[in-house]
Amino acid sequence: MTKYVYDFAEGSRDLADLLGGKGANLAEMARMGLPVPPGFTVTTEACRVFLATGEAPAQLNQEIAAHLATLEQAAGRRLGQVDHPLLLSVRSGARFSMPGMMETILDIGLNDYSVLGLAGSPERERFAWDSYRRLVQMFGSTVMGVDSALFEEALARLRKEHRAADDTQLDTADLIRLVETYKDLIQERTGEAFPEQPAEQLRRAVLAVFTSWNGERARIYRRREHIPDDLGTAVTIQTMVFGNLGADSGSGVAFTRDPATGRPGIYGDYLPNAQGEDVVAGIRNALPLQDLARLDPASFARLRDTMQKLEAHYRDLCDIEFTIERGTLWMLQTRVGKRTAQAAFSIASQLTDEGLISAREALDRVDGRALARLMFPRFDTSAAGDVIAHGIAASPGAAVGEAVFDSAEAVRRAAEGRQVVLVRQETAPDDLPGMVAAQAVLTSRGGKTSHAAVVARGMGKVCVCGAEDIVVDPRQRCFVAEGVTVPEGVVISVDGSEGVVRLGAVPLIDSEVMRYFDSGGELPDENAAPTVREVHRLMEQADAARRLEVRANADTPEDAARARRFGAQGIGLCRTEHMFLGDRRTLVEAMILAHDDVGRAAALAALLPLQRQDFTGILEAMDSLPVTIRLLDPPLHEFLPDRTELSVRLARDEALGRAPEPRDAELLAAVTRMHEENPMLGLRGVRLGLVVPGLVAMQVRAVAEAVVARRRAGGDPRAEIMVPLVDTVEELHLVKEEVERVLSEVSRETGVTVDCPVGTMIELPRAALTAGKIARDAEFFSFGTNDLTQTTWGFSRDDVEAAFFSAYLDKGIFEASPFETIDREGVGRLVEIAVREGRAARPDLKIGVCGEHGGDPESVHFFHDVGLDYVSCSPFRIPVARLEAGRAALASVAADERRAS
Ligand code: PEP
Ligand code: MG
Repeated sequence: MTKYVYDFAEGSRDLADLLGGKGANLAEMARMGLPVPPGFTVTTEACRVFLATGEAPAQLNQEIAAHLATLEQAAGRRLGQVDHPLLLSVRSGARFSMPGMMETILDIGLNDYSVLGLAGSPERERFAWDSYRRLVQMFGSTVMGVDSALFEEALARLRKEHRAADDTQLDTADLIRLVETYKDLIQERTGEAFPEQPAEQLRRAVLAVFTSWNGERARIYRRREHIPDDLGTAVTIQTMVFGNLGADSGSGVAFTRDPATGRPGIYGDYLPNAQGEDVVAGIRNALPLQDLARLDPASFARLRDTMQKLEAHYRDLCDIEFTIERGTLWMLQTRVGKRTAQAAFSIASQLTDEGLISAREALDRVDGRALARLMFPRFDTSAAGDVIAHGIAASPGAAVGEAVFDSAEAVRRAAEGRQVVLVRQETAPDDLPGMVAAQAVLTSRGGKTSHAAVVARGMGKVCVCGAEDIVVDPRQRCFVAEGVTVPEGVVISVDGSEGVVRLGAVPLIDSEVMRYFDSGGELPDENAAPTVREVHRLMEQADAARRLEVRANADTPEDAARARRFGAQGIGLCRTEHMFLGDRRTLVEAMILAHDDVGRAAALAALLPLQRQDFTGILEAMDSLPVTIRLLDPPLHEFLPDRTELSVRLARDEALGRAPEPRDAELLAAVTRMHEENPMLGLRGVRLGLVVPGLVAMQVRAVAEAVVARRRAGGDPRAEIMVPLVDTVEELHLVKEEVERVLSEVSRETGVTVDCPVGTMIELPRAALTAGKIARDAEFFSFGTNDLTQTTWGFSRDDVEAAFFSAYLDKGIFEASPFETIDREGVGRLVEIAVREGRAARPDLKIGVCGEHGGDPESVHFFHDVGLDYVSCSPFRIPVARLEAGRAALASVAADERRAS
């Protein structure tokens, strides 16, 4: 039979899935012999039964009663007995901490009789009635569903009557009256009396905690934190101890190290004569924990000793809650504490030095997200101005600039050397130039996976999106926030790590960690900031541990050089499309408009030296490392003028009786001819190369000639040619023949043998499913997980992110956007199949990934697990990918060891 209730003595921290974090850690502390008020925990499994069926498991009440009986026997008193009653707290506690999101009910067991027993003596009367008042209030709102505001109002009325500044000034008679008022309120609102039977109180409190798993706050929190909805919460039932029994009692919270900086020492707050809830609620000002040393030296010494034991046992920063009842210390909770990015690196280093954890474990105590946070400049918050808007912290960092309301204005002001923040309702691909020009992007709509967020993260730009409390008016060129109108040109400060916007220029502090990476990641000297030294140390660990190589997505020599300083081991994706924009667009137009081979050849010939120059620069910056150059991918019409604009221009000329530019008519005809309803699934990638004569040859020749130029200059160029968007091996085969023809042509002409590996992207489901065949013609694969995600799910990113992604995230259809973190079971399965079948056909097939996911911490672990050779990501993500690749390698070693033991 399933066991639904565990005594503290039966549990341990390994049972957190079943007992929740709180229950498991209380059990662990009890096993360690620390002073924990006795109790037991109802499992998450019981909660799951309740959530699925609407009823608690049949034997749950019996089990609870049996554990209660044991508890009562040990305590020598009974729940709610009239004389010196045993009272209980009933608390939620899920596998993952969800602070304040679910319910707690204290003082279970009090009723009109036991309240007198709790008082016992006249000096405790007030305390007893205050406890009873708290129970009726919590039970009434949490269990019986009465609006908690009604209780607050009744309390406020009473305070006003007595001109009492706070509750402590209400006397026993007032509290007795208040209990009556509360009970009347419950009767009136629910038609039911407050239950006086302690067992009934306990039974209903447990169900109320189960129910609170699906409360609105809890659901929203889970969505944001990616906590699965089906885990359920455990319920911990524990003997009450009281911190509000006078000056020799109190409650506090504490950390074994400073969670902000990681510095060793005891940090926390203490509130004399108060219950734990009062500390958290911040009703009265707490004292620094150090003051306890003066107030109650014996308890302080015991607490310090307990905290040392906990840290040694958990081998990590612990976060605790405690109560002192009449000079006796009781531990109410502990867990491994949350910390800032800086503290994470610092604590990992310290614990290694202290011999508490191994170097390998240290790597497990930090992650890529924390590292990314350390790489951005931050605001000096001591000098921060007023917050005018809150939004989603979509891309971390801090930036200051003049608010501008469209892309063109952003570009114009940036060209004048001014710093700008692009403020939009939401962004679209058209806003790209403005986003590039801006220091930060602020939008009033869209979530973490909106266009603005994804693009900003890719570029390493600061972004706050979905700031719903601002109204953006691009026509009036202003936005309104908190009743303040912010017109164009006014300076604002955007904090992408916190998701807040401030008026004015908040001073910035540069990131030392970024400077460290940008200067090549050399061993820092003793003068370097501690954080830099800690990061360096862990990066060395990660590099030593990882199996995955890390390459960069880069398509300029500057980006390539930066990527190399950041530790890139080559370029995994050099997109060639940007090389067709700007001044070169007219040459591309000429190529498309050419009437015959001669005209086309002339246009291509004019593009050739420019492309050669691009590639030479990149190969030089990445000398002796692989550079994967991808042939042109997007549909050609992307390089032509807009169809509507052209039509308007021609219509206007006609209306004015002016002769239209002959080129305009020609362009319009070409644009119309090439118009596609869904260009994402149109003439793209390899298809383009196969139908536009000479295009592949020109690009390959440019690569080959660049290789020759670099060799002649004494370099060691390692170009690789990658064919995009292949569906079938026949496409690849045809292109490959062309590539080989041009390579041998250039070799012959120059006398330098040019031998570039030719591979393909796997970014369509059909390619993944026929990878075994494709591998026969491909020397390497690179997963284009951006397109593979679009085509597997059947949605195009630009269309769907703004349209319904936030609804999908809210409904729990996605835990994270599949564009951010690889969808393991769908897209990931295709990747697995392609890896397996590709390697079966060609055992030495080199396989990487170059979609956005290559720099996403969670996805890096997946790519390690499926056996890829490398991940490729934007230069700024390279340190993150290196760190996560190291962590992934260690995690799989640990998993193997677990399996073996
Ligand atoms: C991809 O599809 O994942 C990819 C890298 O190509 P692009 O994003 O350029 O389409
Ligand atoms: Mg692609």
